[in-house]
Amino acid sequence: MAELIDGKLISTQIKDECKEKVAALKEKGIEVTLAVIQVGDDPASSVYVNNKKKACEYIGANSLSYHLEASATQAELLELVEKLNNDDKVDGILVQLPLPKGFDEDEVIRSINPDKDVDGFHPINVGRLSIGEKGFVSCTPAGVIELLKRSNVDIEGKECVVVGRSNIVGKPMSMLMLRENATVTVCHSRTKDLREVTKRADILIVAIGKPKFIDASYVKEGAVVIDVGIHKVDPNSKKLCGDVDFESVEPIAGKITPVPGGVGPMTIAMLMSNLVNSKF
Ligand code: NDP
Repeated sequence: MAELIDGKLISTQIKDECKEKVAALKEKGIEVTLAVIQVGDDPASSVYVNNKKKACEYIGANSLSYHLEASATQAELLELVEKLNNDDKVDGILVQLPLPKGFDEDEVIRSINPDKDVDGFHPINVGRLSIGEKGFVSCTPAGVIELLKRSNVDIEGKECVVVGRSNIVGKPMSMLMLRENATVTVCHSRTKDLREVTKRADILIVAIGKPKFIDASYVKEGAVVIDVGIHKVDPNSKKLCGDVDFESVEPIAGKITPVPGGVGPMTIAMLMSNLVNSKF
């Protein structure tokens, strides 16, 4: 039976550390402020935006909310970002993705001042990560590193296999594991003999976007398995599952993240951490 990696607990620890730092800054008269822009009324985006607001409240940071109609133009959105770039009171800017049809997301991401890009999506921050410079790191993969470290998983010298190469999860994840001195292999949809590769992993990180895809046949006994995926078990159910078939993998893994309660809560905790640490 695998040991569970408790993302709920670890994310609360991180938010509590942020709260202490914000309180210490406040004593010096320094405020921390996140600006969140939502375009349109996608219900899932509204939930995410609201959760970010609540997390700011929890740590004692200010949150400014901006809402544009889905009928707004790219120019209006860019103008708002520029206003926030130039506002010294704003430390972090987050544009909730995905944007409605017709918006150019890449241009919007590039328009954010890289030093306020708390999501870590700006090409300058991606570049900083790849050459080992300080900068904002994409929140979900940064959260995985915290889960591993705070669960006492040694990363250095370990065989790490990352399944998935998206810009927001797989690629930054592989760069972060490299930075921690793991030996890293990245798999994707064209990988041949995926099972052969994943079975080599001491640490297997799965961000593939396919419910319960990775079963025990892909996993080495005793491996640490991190499941980034989140899916509804079926469209009408509130029950969630990951990219890993937990029931099949849990008996043979050494440590494993559950879904929900594993990687999921880490993303917002790391957003708060990015926001607060920008002041230090
Ligand atoms: P993407 O769809 O952007 O990327 C999926 C990746 O998996 C691609 O690189 C793709 O390869 C690869 N892939 C797809 N099928 C296979 C296969 N059969 N074998 C090997 N590789 C495959 O997904 P994301 O990275 O955005 O998200 C991954 C998962 O993580 C999703 O379930 C998502 O919901 C979840 N997620 C969770 C977050 C959280 O907060 N916990 C945050 C972000 C995402 P190729 O490049 O060749 O197409």
